[in-house]
Amino acid sequence: MPRKFFVGGNFKMNGVVDSITSIINNLNKAQRDPNTEVVIAPPSIYLLLARQLADPQIAISAQNVYDKPNGAFTGEISVEQLRDAKIDWTIIGHSERRVLLREDDDFVARKVKAAIDGGLSVILCIGESLEEREADKTIEVVTRQLNAVAEHLSKEQWAKVVIAYEPIWAIGTGKVATTAQAQEVHSAIRKWLADKISPEASDNTRVIYGGSVSEKNCKDLAKEPDVDGFLVGGASLKPACSKQGSMS
Ligand code: PEP
Repeated sequence: MPRKFFVGGNFKMNGVVDSITSIINNLNKAQRDPNTEVVIAPPSIYLLLARQLADPQIAISAQNVYDKPNGAFTGEISVEQLRDAKIDWTIIGHSERRVLLREDDDFVARKVKAAIDGGLSVILCIGESLEEREADKTIEVVTRQLNAVAEHLSKEQWAKVVIAYEPIWAIGTGKVATTAQAQEVHSAIRKWLADKISPEASDNTRVIYGGSVSEKNCKDLAKEPDVDGFLVGGASLKPACSKQGSMS
């Protein structure tokens, strides 16, 4: 079965009730490609609103979750609370959290494990800094980040993971990876899945690209064989892109 194209919109810390309502109303009205899975990730305070407003075909994702079930963890949200609010997905390991909030590989991996054990699906973000790319360490970095998660998950649990390759130098910078750069890393990730997890995981896991994706560049990126979709930040107020390059 071919991998279903996946488009995630990460609103980050943007939006208020009015603007989020209007984005969702527009998405509800848009002619969406039935072959594309659409998931939006508003700030946590608007998750319930988003779930109430969005068409049931549109999934809602948190931008983060904590690895402990409940307790004295001020400011955090648990997997159970997300499930209670009918939120099916969470982003984990976004570079803004890895860098600004110093989340390390093991913490990210423990959150992925807690999320999946509790019934969520996960958009796992990985990617290298500009310095690491220039030092030719891209594959080493993404492999390290993936190995950390593999320490915690069973082979079957990878069915609940979408891997988002997001080079840090491309996020919010307007500097998008070339199609060749994206394909090279995506195919290395697929090989890692085959070697370390299973041939099924390699065939079935969606590997999506994030980093200054826009209506202009998504069509070419989508043509690459190992690009199964996008995680879109800044442009996520705009229409989504399908594998065929059509806008929905
Ligand atoms: C992101 O936040 O995941 C992202 C890819 O951002 P942008 O599209 O703005 O680069």
